[in-house]
Amino acid sequence: MGTGQLVEVTGKGTIVVETKAGKRHIKEVMLVPGLKENLLSVGQMIEHGYYLVFGDHKVEIYNDSSHTNLVAKVQMKGNRSFPLKLQAEMHFAYRASVDHSTDLWHRRFGHLNMSSLKLLKQQDMVVGLLEIKEDRQVCEGCVLGKQSREAFPREAISRASTPLELIHSDICGPMQTVTKAGNRFFLTFIDDCTRMCWVYFLRHKSEGLCVFKKFKATVELQSGYKLKQLRSDRGGEYTSVEFERFCDNAGIERQLTTPYTPQQNGVAERKNRTIVEMAKCLLLEKKIPLDFWAEAVNISVYILNRCPTKALSKKTPFEAYGGRKPGIKHLKVFGSLLCSCTKTAKTEARFGKQKVYFPGVWQL
Ligand SMILES: [Zn+2]
Repeated sequence: MGTGQLVEVTGKGTIVVETKAGKRHIKEVMLVPGLKENLLSVGQMIEHGYYLVFGDHKVEIYNDSSHTNLVAKVQMKGNRSFPLKLQAEMHFAYRASVDHSTDLWHRRFGHLNMSSLKLLKQQDMVVGLLEIKEDRQVCEGCVLGKQSREAFPREAISRASTPLELIHSDICGPMQTVTKAGNRFFLTFIDDCTRMCWVYFLRHKSEGLCVFKKFKATVELQSGYKLKQLRSDRGGEYTSVEFERFCDNAGIERQLTTPYTPQQNGVAERKNRTIVEMAKCLLLEKKIPLDFWAEAVNISVYILNRCPTKALSKKTPFEAYGGRKPGIKHLKVFGSLLCSCTKTAKTEARFGKQKVYFPGVWQL
């Protein structure tokens, strides 16, 4: 609200208003129980094709640019508000569903497919997820991002039995858009045993070794296990003399896949594709500029570590790796506007040495 106070919205929908000019739809009307007045947002009305002319202690609302179709004329009151009186014969039809929680969680989970979302709830894989209901409307983010991810192909290959026994890695890029921090690539590491995934952003492929060293040090310290094997393709970032020397000295066994057979590096390839797809949905849904792709990729990896995977039974990668169920109450829809009174929201991210401010990306 104008005072900075937060109120709970229990529903959202379209109302139909009958005016002298005929039936009018007002979209995205929020239902706030207990609110004394109904508030119309000037910005929203403009977005929905209305033209508002303020002046002479009144506002005139038109639905055409030539200002001929007058929808309403509202006099300004003493408190500088414009109370729009709806006539008694005008009727309201409220078409809002009060329960939007399933859709909200679908979006918070980066447009995760419904079966996976339900699995999270049914198998009690996360802490804080509300009941997931079946029927959902068509989701704009899913449509724009082309598809919601359904079923992952199964894997028949033998699996590592301890964390860090086998790490899959693949690099993605160069991206068409450079991030604000100057990054053009992202590099992922996936633990075969737990499917936990880590992502790093790079300006140049040659930073691969530096990133790998950092990754190795971090996960070994975190988990208490030692990294034993690394599977990747023969991309230059993995086959430099320095990279090979480092692995030799650390006793890390290399598994370099045959060129032009990406299926041999299937786990990493598939993960990167899933990440890119989710990131695309996130950016497109909120029309976020493409140079924020790294933020979207970063949060996608964060989300996917808290999602079901066919490779694990009744567990998320987060739990398989860290030994406890992930809490998800803090998840927000990517790109939602940040409320200035929420001090706890994270509004900056660190990429390389640079901090990037992105308003509201973590809030809703
Ligand atoms: Zn969706």
